[in-house]
Amino acid sequence: MRVLVKNGTIVTAENEYKADILIEGEKIAAIGMHFDGPFDREIDAEGMYVLPGGVDNHAHFEALNTDGVTTNEPYETTWVALQGGTTTIVDFCTNEPGMNLVDSVNYRLNVRAKGKVAPDIALHACCTDYTDETLSEIPKLVEMGVPSMKLFMAYKGTSLYMDDMKLLNCLEAAQKCGMLMMVHAENPDVLDKCRNDAAAAGHYEAKYHYMTRPPYGEAEAVSRAIRFADAVKCPMCIVHVSCIEAGEEIRRARAEGKAIIGETCPHYLVLDKHKMDHPDWHVAARWICSPALRDKENQDYLWKALNEDWLSVCGSDNSGTPQAQKDWGWDEENQRFDFRKVPNGCPGAGDRLNALWTYGVEAGRMTRQKFVDVCCTLPAKLNGIFPRKGTIAVGSDADLVLFDPTYRGTITLETNPTGVDYNVFEGLEQKGRADTVLLRGNVVVEKGKYLGEIKEVVMDGITYLGATGGQGKFIPGKPYGLGYDLLKK
Ligand SMILES: [Zn+2]
Repeated sequence: MRVLVKNGTIVTAENEYKADILIEGEKIAAIGMHFDGPFDREIDAEGMYVLPGGVDNHAHFEALNTDGVTTNEPYETTWVALQGGTTTIVDFCTNEPGMNLVDSVNYRLNVRAKGKVAPDIALHACCTDYTDETLSEIPKLVEMGVPSMKLFMAYKGTSLYMDDMKLLNCLEAAQKCGMLMMVHAENPDVLDKCRNDAAAAGHYEAKYHYMTRPPYGEAEAVSRAIRFADAVKCPMCIVHVSCIEAGEEIRRARAEGKAIIGETCPHYLVLDKHKMDHPDWHVAARWICSPALRDKENQDYLWKALNEDWLSVCGSDNSGTPQAQKDWGWDEENQRFDFRKVPNGCPGAGDRLNALWTYGVEAGRMTRQKFVDVCCTLPAKLNGIFPRKGTIAVGSDADLVLFDPTYRGTITLETNPTGVDYNVFEGLEQKGRADTVLLRGNVVVEKGKYLGEIKEVVMDGITYLGATGGQGKFIPGKPYGLGYDLLKK
């Protein structure tokens, strides 16, 4: 297939110019003007910005719930990411019950995700069951194309929790083979104390989710993680930074030249904690994610941090927990809602670019180049999949988004599906959208709609909005990514 994308304005992290793009097969073959035909297809991008396909640094599809059996939204729902202009998701692979990480990666790719993922997929390992074997698995994961791993500093008392010794051990092992370490940084004792105090006082409403996850608990863990990473000289990505206090720790670390990369998420940039004040607990529970949504005052800070690059990437932290699972918050025994029982996580992979464009670019808070950098380029560099992904260059995969800046709409579940039965951005104004999306040269979205057949998918007795397709490929990451470049400076 020879495809020409013509008349568009190409936007990369450094540049913006009018040119045509010649695609041969799955790759960008040339960028220029006046290409000679014949072409199998010509796509007119007049009036559109042509962006690299989005790379989402942080996705949890078909993630195991704490019961170790059921999962959140299945891989058939990943089409919503493509429709929103994200052509590569970097998904997390936790330990399957009773399985080591290497086997869990194989199981995720060859069983769970096989034939079901709409965009391309790369993986982060996520150790949720530290054993004698874990450290020796780290180099094997890197060889398998999984050069990053996340650890949880929160959730003491569960197998997810990594104490400081385990964290240091993993950092040492990762540093030896070019792996990036990622952390969910919240101090578990701070959370437990606050949550126990709230429960003892008879407070179980959804708003106690944010009231019991204070910013200082996040900031303390971020500070500790940075010190450990720096001591071991292992680059680290602090994921889903939500507040000023945590952001300041990262700003200082970067000013001191430490190899720390910060990530924030669309929901922290555009939503605030009062969503959880909704009088109907079923609804309020939808915004229960961790870290918690914060006061609105944090938003300007987070935008500034992205602009000035002490937070460098924006991942969705998509965790599409259907309403039926949010409803686990009902405590049958005590006949009351209990925020502590609600599975954490919000869907958002489909609206990541929409939120960043509308409230970033259109609002004058960031340039188009910066938008591309935080949504596409830096996440690809961080995960060792650049320049195959994350930019528009000769030889790169032909993952392109023809972005229509004139689109105007309101985010609703119907216009902006999430795969589950609600959208946490419901009601927000939207400016601009991905009009046409190409994945490795194939048009997969047209006029803002995914071209695969949308169908109902039932998983664990819950119905989701899935789709046919499943054309996504596993994109192995290379070790010694962006984090190691910072280390050399
Ligand atoms: Zn996450």
